[in-house]
Amino acid sequence: MPGKSLVAVANENVSIVTVLQMLAVELPDDIGTGRSRKLHCPFEQLYHSDHGASPALRVYPDTNSAYCFSCAAYFSPVSLAAKAMDCDRQTAAARLLDRVGHRPLDLAAAFQDAAEYEPEPDKALLADALKTFCRRTAERWGESQFEPKIAATLTRCLSLLDLVRSEDDVRAWLGTCKTAMTRVLQEEQPSLSQKVALLWEDQGHRGGRRT
Ligand SMILES: [Zn+2]
Repeated sequence: MPGKSLVAVANENVSIVTVLQMLAVELPDDIGTGRSRKLHCPFEQLYHSDHGASPALRVYPDTNSAYCFSCAAYFSPVSLAAKAMDCDRQTAAARLLDRVGHRPLDLAAAFQDAAEYEPEPDKALLADALKTFCRRTAERWGESQFEPKIAATLTRCLSLLDLVRSEDDVRAWLGTCKTAMTRVLQEEQPSLSQKVALLWEDQGHRGGRRT
């Protein structure tokens, strides 16, 4: 496989399910049938605010990837292994390929190739992740998502997804969009009763009762 990085080779040849098995994550029997699943994240004890009370890692066998809603992290097989083994992605890729017994013919060439190719992040999944974040941030997301300013910010965030190509992009995109959404959601939103009061006041003024 000339021209491909070790990381790319590992991401293509090692299943995300295999990596989860290596990390002793409990898996349902029919995992790998294509349907996305919610599982316990291998890092929940360390990083989740609920210390793993509820499963937060969604696994997508179709795109060989996973996303943890609690860690807010997107994982390919290699990046998941790298985080778990606390090593760089090259090392993680080499260990994974060794583990599954994959022997690229031109391993040396693969090592030399510095350009890292990774599968494109799943855009629909990232859009879901951002909306989940909004739902958790804004108590009244159900209504406030239709506020023009909020809707416009969300639309802008989602349109930026076109530019997301790599895991670094995913991190940058999520970080920026979470900040933007938090800012717009925290801006004072008048409650319904305030709106009614304003409307009432306005009508009163038009009725000539202005003093
Ligand atoms: Zn997690």
